[in-house]
Amino acid sequence: MALIVQKYGGTSVGSAERIKSVARRVARWKAKGHQLVVVVSAMAGETNRLIALARELQEHPDPREFDVMVSTGEQVTIALLSMALMELGVRARSYTGGQARILTDGAHTKARIISIDEQRLRGDLAEGTVVVVAGFQGVDERGNITTLGRGGSDTTGVALAAALKADECQIYTDVDGVYTTDPRIVPEARRLKTVTFEEMLEMASLGSKVLQIRSVEFAGRYRVRLRVLSSFEEEGEGTLITFEEEPNMEQASISGIAFNRDEAKITILGVPDRPGIAYQILGPVGDGNVDVDMIVQNVSHDGMTDFSFTVHRSDFQKTLRILEPVVRHIKARGVESGDKIAKVSVVGVGMRSHAGIASTMFRTLAEEGINIEMISTSEIKISVVIDEKYTELAVRVLHKAFGLEQPV
Ligand code: ASP
Ligand code: MG
Repeated sequence: MALIVQKYGGTSVGSAERIKSVARRVARWKAKGHQLVVVVSAMAGETNRLIALARELQEHPDPREFDVMVSTGEQVTIALLSMALMELGVRARSYTGGQARILTDGAHTKARIISIDEQRLRGDLAEGTVVVVAGFQGVDERGNITTLGRGGSDTTGVALAAALKADECQIYTDVDGVYTTDPRIVPEARRLKTVTFEEMLEMASLGSKVLQIRSVEFAGRYRVRLRVLSSFEEEGEGTLITFEEEPNMEQASISGIAFNRDEAKITILGVPDRPGIAYQILGPVGDGNVDVDMIVQNVSHDGMTDFSFTVHRSDFQKTLRILEPVVRHIKARGVESGDKIAKVSVVGVGMRSHAGIASTMFRTLAEEGINIEMISTSEIKISVVIDEKYTELAVRVLHKAFGLEQPV
């Protein structure tokens, strides 16, 4: 007997029919003798609908009221799924985040889970009841309803799995696992049987939106065994997120190609090269709550250098405004910027033991005449910034160059 946490996303509970199908799957697992905790998202489109509604009333909705409202989507699905389970003769009980005692900080719309008092749920599990918990929400210490940010139900699932020391946390979604890249761009993309936690973290942060990144961090911290599966298929093993590189297995050099079109690039030209300059530029940017991603500083000529970095596109204009006085103050020559860029990355723990990954990547892009504007690397990742219009081409040729369509 195992304790399994299953999380179903919005499309998986998008209609009464879909909810019945989820109930049948849960019932099958239950019939095998397992204890089940099921976390659900709101029905597909519901969260967007609620957000749009709020914005009709307040341009910037009050965060506390926003959470009270947007958390209702999940409250609907927990009850509906419990009903569907009862119809199948399975004992079930629904819990909102607060009822499940998911305590968060008070940061409305992007709260973090602090603790979960799982005793009450354990009581239900012990008597054979399926526990159905609303994803994406909790309460702060004053009892206010909070939400965990878009995609937050993944984090609820993983956090419950951690608190209950579950044997596995299964994330059911509309894709059947984690792919070598987006199959809409590369039809030959392959499902990975396993991906390491570190690779998953890179891919999630690089824009592969299978899992909310916070949920991956959570799984890493508490060593939750995590699996991504399709709710549209009867069977299938999905992708298991592993913690260790499997010993004795021939490791591919690269596991996947990720890309992201959410960034913008800013270059400050003719910056006097002296100690403290990076801080003078990026200090105010950080103070403005803007996250900086890639940073490149050139070798200086005659005491002058160029300084480039990328930010999220939604912070682009704000960052330019922050920089205006800074550029004047440090007497730089000017600013060049653009948001028609894309970041394309190759990711793989195999990179640690394979040489020549970077040169293969750069040669492949060169052969297509794609100019690399910035480069950054980590132990298991090489990212380049290129012109946005070449994103799909770059992803396709790199996927081929690293032989990712071939099974390992
Ligand atoms: N319903 C929320 C959203 O759409 C949370 C989730 O689905 O994970 O972002
Ligand atoms: Mg999701």
